[in-house]
Amino acid sequence: MPGKTHAAIGVMLTTMILLPTNDIKYTLANTALAVVGAFTVDIDTAKSQGATFLKKIFGTIVAVIILGAILKIEYNINIFNYILENRAIHQLIPGLSILVGALIMGVITPHRSFTHSMVGVIAFTIPIYMLAGPLYKGFLIGYIAHILADMLNEKEVKILWPMKKGICLNLCSADGIVAKILFVVSIGVTVLQYKNYFNI
Ligand SMILES: [Zn+2]
Repeated sequence: MPGKTHAAIGVMLTTMILLPTNDIKYTLANTALAVVGAFTVDIDTAKSQGATFLKKIFGTIVAVIILGAILKIEYNINIFNYILENRAIHQLIPGLSILVGALIMGVITPHRSFTHSMVGVIAFTIPIYMLAGPLYKGFLIGYIAHILADMLNEKEVKILWPMKKGICLNLCSADGIVAKILFVVSIGVTVLQYKNYFNI
């Protein structure tokens, strides 16, 4: 499934779960991390490694800055302060160390194994929690949604890694029509959530 579909599903689920009962700043900051989480899972694919991964993260940061600027100007909602306030400085070094370790592990293990497993969920969510505090929720939603979406197609997901047994539901092909539909539906549902929120 393409990265953009995983990102869109993560954005939709984070919005659905957090927007109805939380502050919009909290929801948006979590949504940015959901995109990062959705992209992180596939650092184990050859074409997604290194430069491509960094490009996606850079793209996400640029998107957050543009979105943040629009919200500040149009609605006087400042998500930048919110993100900075939630940074746990004293946990920066241990958090980053674990994160780098998990990223290296992700790059060297085969596709759909470590990063696509419960061990991977824990290995990445702990450092994100240390670095971003309560904003780990979005990351976790984006990350788990990616693994679940991958299970829909014909290639096994080793959810119980390091155990060998994998799961696949064989409902769709990786880049097929289902992935395209999921992308469009996810964007549509997200837009509807915000339309409701702003009453427009
Ligand atoms: Zn994947």
